[in-house]
Amino acid sequence: MAASRNQAPDRHRRALLRGRLRRTPLLRPPWALEESRFASACTACNACVEACPQRVLVAGEGGLPEFDPGRGECTFCGDCARACGEHAFASIDEAPWSLRAQVGEACLAGRGIVCSSCRDACGESAIAFPPTRAVPMPRIESDRCTGCGACVPACPTTAISLAAMTAEVLLEA
Ligand code: SF4
Ligand code: SF4
Ligand code: SF4
Repeated sequence: MAASRNQAPDRHRRALLRGRLRRTPLLRPPWALEESRFASACTACNACVEACPQRVLVAGEGGLPEFDPGRGECTFCGDCARACGEHAFASIDEAPWSLRAQVGEACLAGRGIVCSSCRDACGESAIAFPPTRAVPMPRIESDRCTGCGACVPACPTTAISLAAMTAEVLLEA
């Protein structure tokens, strides 16, 4: 019994390491207020989801909007924030979020396979391939990355995800 109880977590961990599964953090639309304030203000009306010309917002748990970078890129047009009548968004004059791309262990370059799909998709030139090894690894330049998500669906092994950076990391970038 004990062995079978332990097998599932082991399988899950191995799948995570191989990149087949990813723990996806909850990603709200750009300019969304801090999570507790957003959840209090949002009525799940979906006006922001419907306003998004890129179709990258979806109704998530409880009907609350989420950004799904697997669908494509946020262009920071601000239409979602302007569509909200419930003050669930900050001013679009502020930075939209602290999201930045990060490269996981499923990256092909880490296995010695040449790939630059993420760099090709990035309109901000925020992905560098420093020639420090025979098959260069991608490196996210946090000071250039906007967290737009264009590189996420471009990666053939779903090795790229978005994560909120701390204020300290953003200051260092
Ligand atoms: S800023 Fe524009 S593209 Fe980005 S999520 Fe909002 S509506 Fe969509
Ligand atoms: S428009 Fe505002 S209230 Fe409606 S789902 Fe979007 S964030 Fe929530
Ligand atoms: S999230 Fe956008 S800006 Fe950042 S590396 Fe990916 S494509 Fe480039």
